[in-house]
Amino acid sequence: MKRRTVILLMLSGLVLLALVAEPRDTRVRSEVNIPDVLGYRTLKCDLHIHTVFSDGSVWPHIRSEEAWREGLDVIAITDHIEYQPHKEDLPTAHNRSFEIAEPHGRALDVTVLRGSEITREMPPGHLNAVLLQDAEVLDTEHWRDAVRAAHRQGAFIFWNHPGWTGQQPDGVAKWYPEHTELVERGMLHGIEVVNTREYYPEAHLWCIEKNLTMISNSDIHDPLNLDYNPLAGDHRPMTLVFARDKSPEAFKEALFAGRTAVYSGEMLIGEERFLKAIFEASISLKNPVLRVSGESASFLQISNESDLDFELKGGADFEKIFVPEELVIQARKTVLLPVRATSDTQSGRRRFVLPYTVENLKIAPDKGMQIELNIEVIFLPPEVST
Ligand SMILES: [Zn+2]
Ligand SMILES: [Zn+2]
Repeated sequence: MKRRTVILLMLSGLVLLALVAEPRDTRVRSEVNIPDVLGYRTLKCDLHIHTVFSDGSVWPHIRSEEAWREGLDVIAITDHIEYQPHKEDLPTAHNRSFEIAEPHGRALDVTVLRGSEITREMPPGHLNAVLLQDAEVLDTEHWRDAVRAAHRQGAFIFWNHPGWTGQQPDGVAKWYPEHTELVERGMLHGIEVVNTREYYPEAHLWCIEKNLTMISNSDIHDPLNLDYNPLAGDHRPMTLVFARDKSPEAFKEALFAGRTAVYSGEMLIGEERFLKAIFEASISLKNPVLRVSGESASFLQISNESDLDFELKGGADFEKIFVPEELVIQARKTVLLPVRATSDTQSGRRRFVLPYTVENLKIAPDKGMQIELNIEVIFLPPEVST
């Protein structure tokens, strides 16, 4: 081979390498398509994030950009107060991670909140305080003093990973008198129902019974892409906050009022009024009036504009029609629900209410949400084949 050809080949190889090494679709924001409902903005939030300023492995401002890319609106930087494994390399400074992350967040229109993880033995376990003014004053000898210091600043305080096997070896969350004490003093406002990819049904129930805010967070320590693969449709667990607008005041009001839902994997957990509104705003029936002829199927087309799959189960036995017992209304797709007549002797027009349970929309542990699909069927005489 001539020397010039070799050089040309090498150069084109380098160009190819540069193209491969620098994918063009990484520095983009992918919105989370979950609709605004009931007159509120649906804010996507992660209120539990670590950096190198405690036991994380990421410089703080990277957290703001990860959040922007993943379609989040609000994050809280919550490094451990009591656990500082990098202190030989980085001085302990409880406000620094927030101070570094916040300006980059502001530049990208991602709200970054000042937070801390009060990291104590069980009970009370690990507590996050967010919406702080000063994290330094949480560095106290006794945990009650740390919680009081957060409460004095008007912080929102929640219990982290209550079933974490590091503190509850059987993975079952337990309620202690210390938690009752905190709730009674107005110093515990929420619980993580999901942390990382773990769901705690006990915490879900406590939120319902004790009127506490349901929270769901990533608790990421490493770069987000090591634990989640957003470009392949994966997402970190997030808290949906239903706020009047995106302002800090509206966000805070919604959090204390308990207007949240948990979004983890394909699961959405929360009060029925929010879940139903999300379902109804996401779904549309393209042809609610169907013509059914003889025993051949007619197809109801159901469109889903959201990023959520809806897993329907149930259906019902009707006198005049057959519908499937299971159906997944896939995210950002239109799916078909076949409707058949039970016999070929019917005629006329009739309304049907098709009852289903959406299994992955949980209004209580092990309790999916009931929905109804309203259709009208015009029964036609069977077509005569010629
Ligand atoms: Zn923790
Ligand atoms: Zn943590």
